[in-house]
Amino acid sequence: MLTQEAEAAGRAVTVGLVSGLDEVGARDGWRCWICDEPVEPDKSVNDARGPSIDSYFTASKAKNKAGVERLAHRSCNTKKGATTPVIRWPSRLFVSDPAVLLTTVDRLERKGGREVVGRSPSASDAKDASEWLQDRLSRLAPSLPVAVTVEAGGGQQLLVLTVKRR
Ligand SMILES: [Zn+2]
Repeated sequence: MLTQEAEAAGRAVTVGLVSGLDEVGARDGWRCWICDEPVEPDKSVNDARGPSIDSYFTASKAKNKAGVERLAHRSCNTKKGATTPVIRWPSRLFVSDPAVLLTTVDRLERKGGREVVGRSPSASDAKDASEWLQDRLSRLAPSLPVAVTVEAGGGQQLLVLTVKRR
C-alpha cells in the first residue's frame, strides 16, 4: 500500500512537471526563445536540443521577482539568468549597429517611447530587417505592443521600434 502511494505520488510529480513544460512549450509555439529555432516536444529533456523551461528576469520584472517562464533548448537555457542570453540578428540581414535586442525591449517595456535599433544601407535591406524584427519581437516580447518602422536619416534607413499606446 505504501509503495503504491509512493508510486502514485511520484507519478503526480512527473505529470506536474510534464504539463508545465507542455504549457510553456505550447504558449511559445515550441520554439526556443533564445535561438528562435524549433524545439521538439518529444525529445528527451536530457538531450542538449531537448525542451526545458527557462526563467527570464528583466530589470522591470525583477520588482515582482517572478521571472517569465520561456521555452528553451536545454543547451540554450540561461539557467534562470546565470548566463546572459544573446538574441542574434540573422547574418543574412544588412544592418549596421544592431541593438542588443533584450536590453532595448526591457527599456521599452519600462519607459515606452521609441528607439533606433539599427541602420540599413538601402530601403529593401531595411524592409527585410523590419519584417524580421516584427516577427521576432512577436515571440521575444509578446506582451510588448511595438511597431517597427523604417525612417530615412543621414543617407541611410533607420530601423525604429515604437511602443504603441495601450
Ligand atoms: Zn535554442
